[in-house]
Amino acid sequence: MVQKEIVLQKQMADVIIVGGGPAGISAATILARAGKKVVVIERGNFAGSKNVFGGAIYAKPTAEIFPNFEEEAPLERCNTEHRYALLGEDDGTVISYKNPIHCQKGETNSYTVIRAKWDRWCAEQAKKEGAYIVTETIVREIIIKESKVVGIKTDLEEFYAPITIIADGVNSLLTKQLGLRKETQPKEVALGIKEVITLSKEKIQDRFNLDDKTGVIYTIAGGPMLGMLGLGYIYTNQESISIGVGVSLEELQKRNIKPYEILNELKEHPSIAPLIKDGDLKEYSAHLIPEGGYNSMPKILGNGFMVAGDAAMFVNNVHWEGTNLAMLSGKLAAETAIVALEQNDFSEHTLELYKKKLKHSFILKDLKTYRNVIPTLEHNASAFLGFYPKKINEFMEMFTSVDSIPKRQKYRTFIKNIFKERNLFKIALDMLKLLKLVWGVIVR
Ligand SMILES: Cc1cc2nc3c(=O)[nH]c(=O)nc-3n(C[C@H](O)[C@H](O)[C@H](O)COP(=O)(O)OP(=O)(O)OC[C@H]3O[C@@H](n4cnc5c(N)ncnc54)[C@H](O)[C@@H]3O)c2cc1C
Repeated sequence: MVQKEIVLQKQMADVIIVGGGPAGISAATILARAGKKVVVIERGNFAGSKNVFGGAIYAKPTAEIFPNFEEEAPLERCNTEHRYALLGEDDGTVISYKNPIHCQKGETNSYTVIRAKWDRWCAEQAKKEGAYIVTETIVREIIIKESKVVGIKTDLEEFYAPITIIADGVNSLLTKQLGLRKETQPKEVALGIKEVITLSKEKIQDRFNLDDKTGVIYTIAGGPMLGMLGLGYIYTNQESISIGVGVSLEELQKRNIKPYEILNELKEHPSIAPLIKDGDLKEYSAHLIPEGGYNSMPKILGNGFMVAGDAAMFVNNVHWEGTNLAMLSGKLAAETAIVALEQNDFSEHTLELYKKKLKHSFILKDLKTYRNVIPTLEHNASAFLGFYPKKINEFMEMFTSVDSIPKRQKYRTFIKNIFKERNLFKIALDMLKLLKLVWGVIVR
């Protein structure tokens, strides 16, 4: 402790950024490009070393920060197909949307990437623009003077700047320290676990019907997650498959299930097992995913600070979007910081511009649009994520089976069974809830 105090130094910058993830690095790139003195502090030994995600970054938002990324960045595959799999216990219904245009320049929707490579490349771009990135350093504390955030403290140094951008991810210690949010509640987060499974390029392309550039994304509901608030995914990389699940932490605690048990069951499901057969496990990781969305957002700015990315709960779980919200919120925070630096005014009043920009962007609009989706699914998981998905698969089984029973008789038996298992009143109530949800998303 005494030793640490001896080496404690003071460093000055225009903006300090805590966290070298997509939010922090995007903010740093924009600020450095504008000629500002910016310091990023990242606890990992390089940007990306601590970061986990499913697999896709989105082309258009990324190009707003790194216009050259499609030519230069380490990308795996451009995703031309999205498959939605609704799994029963052993069966499954998959619908797919495919459009080859999504692999043409300027039309690409998303790319799969490996975060350790991708984040590192983004950090290199920020450095080229002039950002100073300090790695293997944990920010322990925010320094506040006269009710203003004026810097941060690591174990060995103090860094001072008129603006701090907090981008330290979902478990943001700094927003908790500032009293912007309470301890993360289990219902506000999902636990994401993921495996990277190596497979030869040829096998991946054969099994998923791809060529050497294109990729496919699977969003998976049901299977081992039947009746639970949880989703699974598969992303195809060049020579590996990323497969994982994200399940509400509250649900896992309530049912006393381990997330890897769910992932193992998913990997054994007859609709999934053939896709990963003979693959070798390369990596296993776990990470929290903000789930609270609009309803759990902390205060995102104040005198001398702004909060971006997962630290602000900017994740759209319905679409597995997080990096795009992180990158663009980082960009908007940086643009606000540039205005504040020009005006030499770092008050909450000036930084309100950040909130205005967020409100005008898709970030707050989408989070607001979906604000009731997760709570509704959570409260009705056994029906919407259990009973009905099962029935859809049962319907498909009945519809595709050829036997000697007349079709009308089969339809009638199917409908009779539905009402036996869930009475008319409950079904009507479910439909009402569904309508209300859809109305809330589309109209309100
Ligand atoms: C399983 C899973 C699957 C996902 N799939 C997708 C997907 O396919 N597509 C998508 O767009 N999004 C996805 N997401 C969400 C996406 O990963 C996040 O939204 C995104 O990474 C948020 O970026 P960020 O910069 O805010 O935070 P992070 O990426 O978490 O970065 C925060 C950084 O801060 C550093 N840090 C934290 N505390 C400190 C400290 N005290 N001092 C110094 N450094 C610190 C960390 O080391 C880290 O590098 C997924 C998330 C998970 C968990």
